[in-house]
Amino acid sequence: MDHAAPALPAAFEGASVGCLVCGGSELFTRWKGLLGCKTCGFVFADLKLSGDELARIYGHDYFNGGEYFDYGAEEESLRGNFRDRLRDLSRISPDLSARDLLEIGCAYGFFLDEARHAFKSVAGIDISKDAVRHAREQFGLDAQHGDYLALDVGRKFGTIAMWDTIEHLNRPDLFIEKASADLSPGGLLAVTTGDIGSLNARLRGAKWRMIHPPTHLHYFSVDTISRLLRRHGFEIVHVSHPGNARNLRSIFYYLFAWGHKESPIYKSLLHWRGFDLRITVNLFDIMFVVARRR
Ligand SMILES: [Zn+2]
Repeated sequence: MDHAAPALPAAFEGASVGCLVCGGSELFTRWKGLLGCKTCGFVFADLKLSGDELARIYGHDYFNGGEYFDYGAEEESLRGNFRDRLRDLSRISPDLSARDLLEIGCAYGFFLDEARHAFKSVAGIDISKDAVRHAREQFGLDAQHGDYLALDVGRKFGTIAMWDTIEHLNRPDLFIEKASADLSPGGLLAVTTGDIGSLNARLRGAKWRMIHPPTHLHYFSVDTISRLLRRHGFEIVHVSHPGNARNLRSIFYYLFAWGHKESPIYKSLLHWRGFDLRITVNLFDIMFVVARRR
């Protein structure tokens, strides 16, 4: 490991915040392309993407052959996982039906569609225009296209959810700061993201499957995300490492047909009902954190 301290990365140019988590300014090179904070251990990509670059990354291709090979075709797997998170949330906070929900990074609206009967109201925002159109047209959801940081929500929410989103953001600290402002006192912020402090992440090192800049820019651990949340007025009320269930179709796709959607074997098996079988894989390296605004 190279511990030479580089100059402040471009991500902090013009800002005096230092490490987004602790404000520290002493950094080291963790792996090629990744930096770590010497004070708190927070790990992040040595990159700063413009709004245009982010919008390009999360355009049509992102949800169709990019990180989510075919987000729409994965609908059942995703909905199953969202139902699990919803069940967890209702255990943590039995009063969901009295809360208004905002989802940041709502994509196609699968979670909002699952959650609409559990909450008083549901709304979402996403940077992907295609995905938001789907959420609005297919499910009639109150979803809007845009940058959350530029959004005036005009009211307070009881719950804000960010599923597998925070690692993609240029400035997760600003999102958490704004979420804190947009929540009522007692409001909940629910987040899932990879846990770089997990055993699997530590064993896999630079080969951990979650490490892929430029889509993943920030790599939290339970400790660093807790520090960031506390810094912005939250107390941590839940931390777990839930499994990620996928149906056999998407597992097969990942194993045999990645990048070859026209693969004859994949196409011939696409409608096989056994593909609907749900298999939970848990490497205990994805964390689910719920924080309450003080
Ligand atoms: Zn730090």
